[in-house]
Amino acid sequence: MTSPWQMLAGNLAVVALFVLGWGHARYWLRSVPGVVRSALFGLAMGLGAIASMLMAAEIDNGYFIDLRLSLLAIAAFCGGPLAALLTSALAMSWRVHMAGAGMIAGLLLMAGSIMLGLIWRLLFRRRDTSARQVLTLGLAVALMIGSVIFAVPAPSRLDSFVNYILPTGLLNLIGTIIGGLVVMQARRLAAERDLLLAAMNQAPDYTYVKDRHSRFAVVNRAVAAFNGFANPQDMIGKTDFDLTTPERAQTLFDLEQQIIATGEPQLEREENLPDNQGRMRWFTTAKVPLLNASGEMIGIAGVTRDITDDKQLRQDLIDSRNTLSYALTEMSDGLAMFDSEGRIEFCNEQYRACFPYTGELRRPGAHMRDILEAVIESGEQVSAPRQSPDGWIERIVENLHRESEEEVNLFDGRWLQVRTRPTTEGKTLVVVTDVTRIKQAEVELQSATDQLKHLVRTDSLTGLLNRRAFDNAMDAEITRSARAGTPMSLLLIDVDRFKAYNDEYGHPSGDECLKLVAKHLQKSLKRSADMAVRYGGEEFAAILPGTDEDGAYLVAEMFRKSLADARLPHKGTERGILTASVGVATYMPDNLHRSVGELIQTADEALYSAKAAGRDRVYGTRVRAKQSKYAD
Ligand code: GH3
Ligand code: MG
Ligand code: MG
Repeated sequence: MTSPWQMLAGNLAVVALFVLGWGHARYWLRSVPGVVRSALFGLAMGLGAIASMLMAAEIDNGYFIDLRLSLLAIAAFCGGPLAALLTSALAMSWRVHMAGAGMIAGLLLMAGSIMLGLIWRLLFRRRDTSARQVLTLGLAVALMIGSVIFAVPAPSRLDSFVNYILPTGLLNLIGTIIGGLVVMQARRLAAERDLLLAAMNQAPDYTYVKDRHSRFAVVNRAVAAFNGFANPQDMIGKTDFDLTTPERAQTLFDLEQQIIATGEPQLEREENLPDNQGRMRWFTTAKVPLLNASGEMIGIAGVTRDITDDKQLRQDLIDSRNTLSYALTEMSDGLAMFDSEGRIEFCNEQYRACFPYTGELRRPGAHMRDILEAVIESGEQVSAPRQSPDGWIERIVENLHRESEEEVNLFDGRWLQVRTRPTTEGKTLVVVTDVTRIKQAEVELQSATDQLKHLVRTDSLTGLLNRRAFDNAMDAEITRSARAGTPMSLLLIDVDRFKAYNDEYGHPSGDECLKLVAKHLQKSLKRSADMAVRYGGEEFAAILPGTDEDGAYLVAEMFRKSLADARLPHKGTERGILTASVGVATYMPDNLHRSVGELIQTADEALYSAKAAGRDRVYGTRVRAKQSKYAD
């Protein structure tokens, strides 16, 4: 008869077979729902228990030594209630089928093991299964078996303990520990493998492992999809020769074999390839050699990443940097970037060239304060104060980071426009433009405008105001004197017998004559507000603001006399010299309803009267009496 200790080895082998078998089966069942897996686990453990019972030694009628209790405890602890139910159903049915005197005790122990497994599961459910839990479960099962001693009558207790209770207890303790650890380990490995597979499969990169002969051993879904396979499994055993052009496959093969031969990884190899939709994309690949635990080369692992967008971004960056640097060197303006401290960060050549004395100083790292001190010392800027310049320097340094626009006059006559624009990073951009030509053009334009304005108002022959200026001035002066309540007078002057002068001495002499008249008229007007006008042809006018009738007569008479006194010969006139007749009209302060037309008409009528009265005289229509006073 086999001893109980021999049974230990045989039974342990059976238990080991079932739990190890389950460890393998578990991997194949990884995609099966959890409930089905628990049920299958329960069935496997139940069959294990039956196998253990078949291998058991019957030491007495119906008393068996075996490992079924450990399998029941493991089934309940690791598989939960469903597994416990199925295992116990199988195991208990078998025990009942075997019958014998120890059946009731056996069934009670089996129920106890199931209960212990479930209690342990309940106690440690929230925690990860650990070796200590398995150990305590084994001890609990062994103690439960030990408690059978109390059911044995006192005289045969020692026998029972040595022959039955001790071997059964030890056997099940060891069985529970080994079985529990194996199941735990299988579960942990499966979980680890699931995680790794999921990580590899769901990663956006192309991940693959090849064996020593460059055959695919593992690929993720991205690799399979890229190569047109629905399932990563379908690619296993294939090589690049099955997937791409022979030339490229050969290149890849050579590279991989080199990695395997040298053990040197190959990183960042870039390739431009069409993707599965035919679009050209850029990829970068890293391949590393794989060694097993004993340091032997077993293959390579590769990761390929689509870097088309990155590459495009990098290219855009390079392009825009090139464009910027081209613009900086080719632009006509000077440009400098100052940091938040007021130091030059960079500047172009044109910026330096703008400043003849301080250009050399204006380089990256130079501080605005030092530059300005050099500006003052060298006298580069006309507007920079030579005495106590500190305030000037501080003002510019403070304003450097504010938006501003300033025109700077250099010692050599050049004008620079300096614009500062703060940036969002606390720096400031300074743009310097040489505006000398614009400045010159501005001055020229201004003088041309002034000249034009003058021409528009001036009579070209005599230099007096012209008719247009007369009209404007009359409107303005009438309004002004009406508002101020001051008098205002107008003289209308006509050269006597001028047609005859032209006929006698020629038209050019006539023009000279008109210039002479203009000179005498201008000379007779003493106040700065008085205006001498060439009214048209040989007719002249004088506007005399703030001048009353008496004053106007005085001025008119002074002119008339001055011209006559010149004694320019003129055969056509009564006196044989050049003379002119003058009509005077005045608005007095009390006359508030004034009009230009009325004043001119009044003066014209007076002039007509002066002509009619014999020429070379001053007439005023309103105060005719006065003519005797001034006329010869
Ligand atoms: P009266 O004493 O009545 O004024 O005689 P008058 O000959 O001056 O007569 P009227 O005013 O009709 O003649 C004006 C003449 O002045 C006509 C024209 O020959 C001459 N005249 C007008 N404008 C100019 C000018 O710009 N230059 C010259 N040389 N002659 C001019
Ligand atoms: Mg006339
Ligand atoms: Mg005339």
